[in-house]
Amino acid sequence: MLVVKKFGGTSVADKERIFNVANRCIEDYKKGHDVVVVLSAMGKYTDELISMAQDINPRPPKREMDMLFTIGEQMSVALMAMAMNQLGVSAVSLNAFQVTMRTTSAYGNARLKRIDTERIRTELECRKIVIVTGFQGINKYDDYTTLGRGGSDTTAVALAAALRADSCEIYTDVDGVYTADPRLVPSARKLKEITYDEMLDLSTLGAGVLHNRSVEMAKKYGVPLVVRSSLNNRPGTLVKEDAKVERMLVSGVALDRNADRVAIIGLKDEPGIAFKVFDCLAKKNINVDVILQSIGRDGTKDISFTVDDGNIEETVETLEENRGRLSFERIESETRIAKLSIVGAGMISHPGVAAKMFETLYNENININMISTSEIRVTVLIKDSDADRAINAVHDAFGLAE
Ligand code: ASP
Ligand code: MG
Repeated sequence: MLVVKKFGGTSVADKERIFNVANRCIEDYKKGHDVVVVLSAMGKYTDELISMAQDINPRPPKREMDMLFTIGEQMSVALMAMAMNQLGVSAVSLNAFQVTMRTTSAYGNARLKRIDTERIRTELECRKIVIVTGFQGINKYDDYTTLGRGGSDTTAVALAAALRADSCEIYTDVDGVYTADPRLVPSARKLKEITYDEMLDLSTLGAGVLHNRSVEMAKKYGVPLVVRSSLNNRPGTLVKEDAKVERMLVSGVALDRNADRVAIIGLKDEPGIAFKVFDCLAKKNINVDVILQSIGRDGTKDISFTVDDGNIEETVETLEENRGRLSFERIESETRIAKLSIVGAGMISHPGVAAKMFETLYNENININMISTSEIRVTVLIKDSDADRAINAVHDAFGLAE
């Protein structure tokens, strides 16, 4: 049996935790399993690297950022291999180069394309525990790339798929996937199971448990995931194609505080304008989320949308650079907003879910700025100062509380 185990930053934050992880992996190894471990950088080390970089250059080149980022994961894997050796088990650490994990070229936001499994297999055959750096890859120029914040989950799932692992376990500092972030919603409940689609929406919308691309990849390759705590032995949450138990109308509520809203006012109301706007953003690799277009009046219209707060400056700059081509009156940006979403496969067959969410917010006297929906999701944009109250009210309204 081959297991892939991924541990996040908090799980390897200090010496004691590193030995805790080492011991958990050794337990599996001693059962005779092949063990591949994927690690994130220790604690908040990636954030520290960002501060260090910004102290030198507030807009550092993305290539150099990735070069810098990779040391975080490299530090964790080397220390982990040392810990396992100290405990009498032979282990080897490998980075993206040594494994050869090829990605697209987009620095800071690359996608995995191909993983060579040969080196890992050889090391496993020598009965070593193989410890691989999460989050990083190499592109066609042989430069380091990274997969976006939280990307180590995706490395783990991709490795599990490439190695045809029997299980892929994602260890974190919470017990699993909850109906809402327990830090914000004290009555949140742990889910036993959740579908890929629900999990994909929840992670994209800010549940903060799994990197959304890791869920995308798990669904594509049919890799069942277990999300569980590195600090205890509770069973965690299973993420898979279809979850049978607990078929609820709504499985979870997510809040994303990292979204900013941009409004382009007075755009020319003519065919192709939306294409031009979003094409120039796509060329800069800026992800756009909830989009709202107003009805045209006097030959103009407005388009508003949300972007990640890390991208707001580049978004506004890019639009300004293209002012000639796009022709608009002005741009407004709003950073004090939050995106609240409910997700549930049960919505497909039950009308009225969105209305119930709106009613709940109305009862709390919370104004909705923008709305977007899909088959299994309703998202609203609200004021950040309303967010805590809103998520608790909605969570309660759908009966998710413990
Ligand atoms: N260390 C990276 C980050 O903090 C990747 C990860 O933790 O998954 O985003
Ligand atoms: Mg993470």
